Amino acid sequence: MMEYNNLSSLLRRLYGAKIRKFCIDGGFTCPNRDGTCGVGGCIFCGERGAGEHIQKKGVAAQMAGALESVKPGEKYIAYFQNFTGTYAPVAQLKEKYDAALCDDRIVALTVGTRPDCIDEGVAALLASYKARTDVWIELGLQTESDLTAERINRGYKREAFERAMQILSRHGVRAVVHLMAGLPGEDRAQLLKTVDYVNRFPLFGVKLHSTYVSRDTELCRMYERGEYTPLTFEEYVEDAIAVLTHLRPDLWIHRLTGDSPGDLLVAPLWVKKKDPVLIEIRRRMAERSLSQGCFYEGEAYPMIERP
Ligand code: SF4
Repeated sequence: MMEYNNLSSLLRRLYGAKIRKFCIDGGFTCPNRDGTCGVGGCIFCGERGAGEHIQKKGVAAQMAGALESVKPGEKYIAYFQNFTGTYAPVAQLKEKYDAALCDDRIVALTVGTRPDCIDEGVAALLASYKARTDVWIELGLQTESDLTAERINRGYKREAFERAMQILSRHGVRAVVHLMAGLPGEDRAQLLKTVDYVNRFPLFGVKLHSTYVSRDTELCRMYERGEYTPLTFEEYVEDAIAVLTHLRPDLWIHRLTGDSPGDLLVAPLWVKKKDPVLIEIRRRMAERSLSQGCFYEGEAYPMIERP
């Protein structure tokens, strides 16, 4: 029995190949850092913007470098990961996305962004790539709670997510939502409220990870003052199982671990190793005969197979 709908199994089936991700730094900033809607950014966000390991180079140069190391038979997703990947005029976005789609082996374009940086122009641009590649957008929601959003300085209310989902749906652009367990002031009950909330939207999938403390962030200062305690391995595994079992059964799970920020990581150190987390989640779910959506009580949706 599959404990949950793992994106990598879907991609392998769709493309008949191993799919790797090229994480691209599009040279974007973020409206929550430059003063447009806030300064300082989300309290957990490092100076390099949720893609701490990425190096700064032009998109074409990054793609050329990445393609040098490809293996025969592999295919790739071009992923604009750090900061806000739709935060630029549409013409500039088009240049960057075009530069990323430079090779037939790139089978999907994925862009990480904030819901308040989705508008009709951006959605139309993303939709225009659907004829040549799969496309999906990743929205950093983290929580449905506007109270927590204020606490983490997210810089937008959940209405912005609802607006973005309407625009993306109108343009037929798939969306993946990012959620975080262990946010300051949140417990498992609040995490499950977020799951109930996202279950209402026509999403393609979900990414979940545990909140971690990166150096030189506001969360780090809270941690040092004793005002924030990250989840333990044990707590996160149980949170992830709670999320999976309450999620709609048609959603694809894109990730259950974060990309630890290397030497910028302060705590918790267990997030450095992804495999033990994934193994333990699957082991416990199998042992308890649990599967994705087994506690979901809402409407059944058709499976979205094609991104
Ligand atoms: S929206 Fe993303 S890039 Fe901007 S501050 Fe928050 S985590 Fe960082």
